[in-house]
This record gives sequence, C-alpha cells and structure tokens, in this order.
Amino acid sequence: MKLVFATNNLNKLAEVQKMLPNSIELLSLKDIHCFEDIAETSSTLEGNAQIKANHISDNYQYNCFADDTGLEVAALNGAPGVYSARYAGEPANAENNMQKLLNELKNTNNRQAHFRTSICLNLNGKQHFFDGVCKGDILKEKQGEKGFGYDPVFKPEGHQISFAQMSSEEKNKISHRGLAIQKLVAFLTSLA
Ligand code: IMP
Repeated sequence: MKLVFATNNLNKLAEVQKMLPNSIELLSLKDIHCFEDIAETSSTLEGNAQIKANHISDNYQYNCFADDTGLEVAALNGAPGVYSARYAGEPANAENNMQKLLNELKNTNNRQAHFRTSICLNLNGKQHFFDGVCKGDILKEKQGEKGFGYDPVFKPEGHQISFAQMSSEEKNKISHRGLAIQKLVAFLTSLA
C-alpha cells in the first residue's frame, strides 16, 4: 500500500518509514507532485491536521496522514498552541518565538507546558485521529543546540536536560510526535 505523509521533511519521513512494515510505502508531498501551500486555517491542531489530510485525499486520491503540533503553556492559557510556528509573527523564526515566550513568562514561576501532536489519517474513506503529549517545563533560559523550534527552552518531565540536549533517538522515544506516530504505526501494523 502507498501512503502519503503530508510533509516535505525528509527526516520525519525516513523516521516513520523505518517504523512501518515493508508492505507500506510512504510518499512525501514532493513524491506526488504536490507543491501548493496548504493553508492551515483551523484554530485547533486536529482541524489543521484534517485540512492537510483532506487536501491530499480530495485532490490526489491517495490514502494519507498529516500531523500538526503545538506548544501549550499553562500560565498562558494554552498559548502559543496552534500558533506556535508564528508566535512572534511572520516570517516564522524559532529564536524570536523563544525570546517572546521567555519574556511572557519572566514574572511567573508556573513553568508547566506540554507539546501536543495530532495526526489525522485518511484511510480508504475513513478518518482516524491519533495524539501524543509530552509534558514538561519551560526553562528560564535556553539550554542546548540540537533539535529545532522550542527545543532549547523545553525540559521534558522526568529529565534534567532540555530537548535540545538530547539525541534525536532519545527525543523521539518520549516526544509528542514520537508517541502519536507510535499509535499510528501500531494501528497500521494491525491492518497489514
Ligand atoms: P509542526 O506542526 O510540526 O510544523 O509544528 C509547529 C511548530 O511547533 C513548529 O514550527 C515549532 O515551532 C513547534 N514545534 C513542533 N514540534 C516541536 C518539537 O519537537 N520541538 C520544538 N518545537 C516544536
């Protein structure tokens, strides 16, 4: 079976392909010649994952899945959430986003936050959702150089280092996206 992962991130694609049975061949957006920008206009992660997955199954007639992730901070009532990529405005800039977040939290000791990933799978005319959550704390300052996005300011629960100080293998085992993908893979494997 061919299955589109609505992403152009080849690292994400390879990571998921490794976890899937050989009977499932993953395709990227580029592989199906989908080059248009898919506007993520929903106010929820589930909604945006669904918009992307529906765009592919409606216009390209493939089974497919899409993911959307946000950082939800307790002291900010769940912000930046679905707006995480562009928290400090356009164009998206991870450094500016982290500085804005640290600034917003400078007068609070409540550092609780979590990353949440929602995956929408469109398979043979049916829709399935999977989610993954990684709880943790927002650090007072950046730590580490690896990863991307908010990794340097996020310390996952039960760990003494930030996401940006972990190897990608270590992070994938406990991350929001890793957990959501594990659920997706378990579902697909049970059908294969
Ligand atoms: P996306 O839905 O995977 O594109 O994620 C949206 C935004 O959330 C990204 O642009 C990052 O700012 C942030 N983000 C998502 N996943 C992570 C992560 O694993 N670490 C740090 N930031 C992340």
